[in-house]
Amino acid sequence: MAQLTDDCFAFSGPLLRLDEMERLIAERIMPVAESERVRLHEARGRVAAADVKAPVDLPPFDNSAVDGYAVRHADLAPNADTKLAIAGRLTAGANASLGVDRGQAIRIFTGAAMPKGADTVFMQEDVMVEGGQVVVPKGLKPGANRRLAGEDVRAGAVVLAAGTVLEAQHVALLAALGLTEVDVRRRLKVAIFSTGDEVVEPGTPRAGAAIYDANRYLLAELLERVGAVVTDLGILPDNPDKLADALRAAASGHDLIITSGGVSTGEADYVRTAVERVGSLVFWRVAIKPGRPVALGVIRGTSGHSAAFVGLPGNPVAVFVTFVRVVKVLLRRLGGARPDRLVALPVRAAFAYRKKKDRREYVRVSLIRTPDGDIEAVKHPQDGAGILTSLTETDGLLEFPEDVTSIEPGARVGFLSYASLMG
Ligand code: AMP
Ligand code: MG
Repeated sequence: MAQLTDDCFAFSGPLLRLDEMERLIAERIMPVAESERVRLHEARGRVAAADVKAPVDLPPFDNSAVDGYAVRHADLAPNADTKLAIAGRLTAGANASLGVDRGQAIRIFTGAAMPKGADTVFMQEDVMVEGGQVVVPKGLKPGANRRLAGEDVRAGAVVLAAGTVLEAQHVALLAALGLTEVDVRRRLKVAIFSTGDEVVEPGTPRAGAAIYDANRYLLAELLERVGAVVTDLGILPDNPDKLADALRAAASGHDLIITSGGVSTGEADYVRTAVERVGSLVFWRVAIKPGRPVALGVIRGTSGHSAAFVGLPGNPVAVFVTFVRVVKVLLRRLGGARPDRLVALPVRAAFAYRKKKDRREYVRVSLIRTPDGDIEAVKHPQDGAGILTSLTETDGLLEFPEDVTSIEPGARVGFLSYASLMG
């Protein structure tokens, strides 16, 4: 399980800026050590455990990028058409060791190896064929339409750095290099449960003051998207004994336990009491909005291992935002992935907004294309942390930096799509 010290989440300041939080996590949390070798089909979503070096050049040999005629550029007249004799035919995969002599061209198809002596390929659309000859126009640059061996990847080059989260395109690259397997970090094991006497399971009868559980479903999906193995421990009542028992049991066999609800300072918020019985707890007042304090801790398991603990707020929108901006940083670090490189895309604000200095704020917005071709972000009319439709009816979050205090309509602002935040 994860290697954690009891004080790994300790933080003494009043407010934790996001960049400080990222640094703290990078400094104090060690990734899980174990790795495994998986087949390419199982690799997507996993984290490369080591650098991968290319065993061969890509492409492995010089080849044609088009269907056409391979020629020697030196044979071409600089200011007139050139007539060349068609001396052979090379299809993709053909092994013929054809060469081009002076005044000759070879009929060639995309992906076929360049014939010896040829350095340039005319597209078939650009030439005229007359009997056994081809007439090529002037003006084509030497090397045109030829793909050089190794122009994509040089043998020996690092093509995947350790910590890369493997996507379809990474798997394709490994396959193109002839590899069949890749070493990846083991998946993180994460236990989740919801807390609250009012929370009931969808599909079961609901009494007057009860609500259906949304957070466990939200968390399970978000965790699956980042490749974690999820243990669903259900819904726990607001009872410190039961909460402490569940936490203690989950600490062995999991790297991380995530709960929602019960972590504010209300009298019925028993998660805090429970965590303090079976481990240690600190609160991070992360300088973001939405995002109430996030509870972090370490729960002692058996045999010296411990699990990290994250207690998220109860309101689903707060769960979402704290997950994508706080928990994901922790998950990536624990899982051995490099920090996310989130790049907010510039769009135009369609509304005015005031915010406090020194905290980062996230606003749920929909994007629309304006008649002048710009992209405008429209704020959802409801911004309560319990309004789930403010997440389902929008496209992503605007990110307002710490130093900004007011945004006027028409201002350039940064947009993060939900897809980019959840990936
Ligand atoms: P709490 O932090 O426990 O006081 O919860 C804050 C709000 O979130 C309350 O309105 C809860 O009813 C609601 N809430 C807590 N847990 C869930 C859940 N699993 N799904 C949906 N709403 C929840
Ligand atoms: Mg509660």
